[in-house]
Amino acid sequence: MSKAVRLFDLDKRDYPSERGDTFRSLQVSECWVCGALSNRVVMGGYPGYGVRVVCPNSFECWHHELENKLKWLDKPHPLSYKNELQKEIDEMKKKHQADVKNDLEGNPDMKLKHWVTNTRSFKPGSACKHFLE
Ligand SMILES: [Zn+2]
Repeated sequence: MSKAVRLFDLDKRDYPSERGDTFRSLQVSECWVCGALSNRVVMGGYPGYGVRVVCPNSFECWHHELENKLKWLDKPHPLSYKNELQKEIDEMKKKHQADVKNDLEGNPDMKLKHWVTNTRSFKPGSACKHFLE
């Protein structure tokens, strides 16, 4: 039996707001890197403090790589290079499609879309070197 999960409406501002509080939101946040969905909210951040939604796949090395490519794509490039890069990105997304995990609890409103605020995190002990960039 699944236990009832309380969902907080981020637009109503009556959610837990102490640093470190975690809760589930009515809104669904989508990751612009991998497309994962999450409604797990953490109160924190530095600098600045507030609602943070961390992509559930953000500690994966391929996620860091994909984010780098997407950011690089945003820069001005010759069209042929841009097309090449876009192809690489599409292939990478396809390759990792099955690895993308969502983190949703309760029955969030899928029409209320936000973006995740954090796309990069690290697993202790991971061999990933992307945090050195
Ligand atoms: Zn992601």
